[in-house]
Amino acid sequence: MSVPSPQPRSVVEQIPVYVPGRPPTPRPGLTTYKLSSNENPFPPLPGVIEAAHAAVDLANRYPDMGNTRLYEGLAARLGVPADHLAAGTGSVALIYHLLQAFCDPGDEVVHAWRSFEAYPIAIASVGAVSVPVPLDEQWRHDLDAMAAAITDRTRIVLLCTPNNPTGPALTQTELDAFLDRVPSHIVVVVDEAYLEFVRLDDAVDGVATYRGRSNVVLFRTFSKAYGLAAFRVGYAVAPAPIAAALRAVSLPFGVSTVAQAAALASLDAHDELMRRVDHLVAERDRVTAALRDQGWSIPDAQGNFVWFGVGERTASFAAACEDAGIVVRPYGTDGARVSIGEPEGNDRLIEVAGSFGL
Ligand SMILES: *Cc1c(COP(=O)(O)O)cnc(C)c1O
Repeated sequence: MSVPSPQPRSVVEQIPVYVPGRPPTPRPGLTTYKLSSNENPFPPLPGVIEAAHAAVDLANRYPDMGNTRLYEGLAARLGVPADHLAAGTGSVALIYHLLQAFCDPGDEVVHAWRSFEAYPIAIASVGAVSVPVPLDEQWRHDLDAMAAAITDRTRIVLLCTPNNPTGPALTQTELDAFLDRVPSHIVVVVDEAYLEFVRLDDAVDGVATYRGRSNVVLFRTFSKAYGLAAFRVGYAVAPAPIAAALRAVSLPFGVSTVAQAAALASLDAHDELMRRVDHLVAERDRVTAALRDQGWSIPDAQGNFVWFGVGERTASFAAACEDAGIVVRPYGTDGARVSIGEPEGNDRLIEVAGSFGL
């Protein structure tokens, strides 16, 4: 006779699997490039490794649970009160915290699709219901359809700008018009993981937007432009009651001493950050222009990545890239995302794309 075994909640079985970007398979005689995770090809900013090393000396002590110095540094840089900030182990953690704080089982979360693949995973993990709204023809958020998808059960709307994995960003005009249509009891997240890379005339000013609204939350990360993906640190900017809720559900001592020190030191290297971001933006624009010259229809690329909407040919496109020594991130039969990396890797992408055939 079998005895009953412990069973996780039924929602656990329904959690989709997160597929991380793969590292390249080493190939003799060929330099390989990992362009599958939107990582920064630059090492951490000047002063950051030194600050992280110094923090290692404190490894016998718990981190500052209040992230005091990091909040002070961010508050000064952004011009927001420290109690409007909530840090987490990457901004992915903040997505989970927000869902935990605002959603009961069955509550609905509206988000674009395709968008950041962590959204449906995090939503499922709290037993909430994902309401994916298809992107429009240009691979952009369809904000009219998203507004129409809001129901009595909606608690959160997730906006991803620039949208990972497709690239386009919202404009301030579009965002304001959308926010005007969302009932004020619904939290609207503006996930700005790639904010530093945006080059638009009517770019979203996240801080000005959250200041004017009681239901807007910004998610930001040190993983992309700042190049600290391994340290796991991100933060939310939110009205005090929402920031307090995020902190209340956070795992205690989540952000390590090393991560806090590295993030703080990164804030001090602002000029170098912007120089590197400008370089990556120039590379992105160079790659996009070259691909369009080859005849590719590449959606507006406002992050540190480009999107190939190759549909059924996604797997063969990814395989062709792999053969040439670059690993990209395929998404089912929608398309493939390729991160902007070292110039040689970007050149390799242009070559492969040119010979792949449209
Ligand atoms: C990378 C990314 C994040 C943040 O990742 P963390 O490393 O957890 O900070 C958040 N949102 C989007 C859309 C991303 O692409």
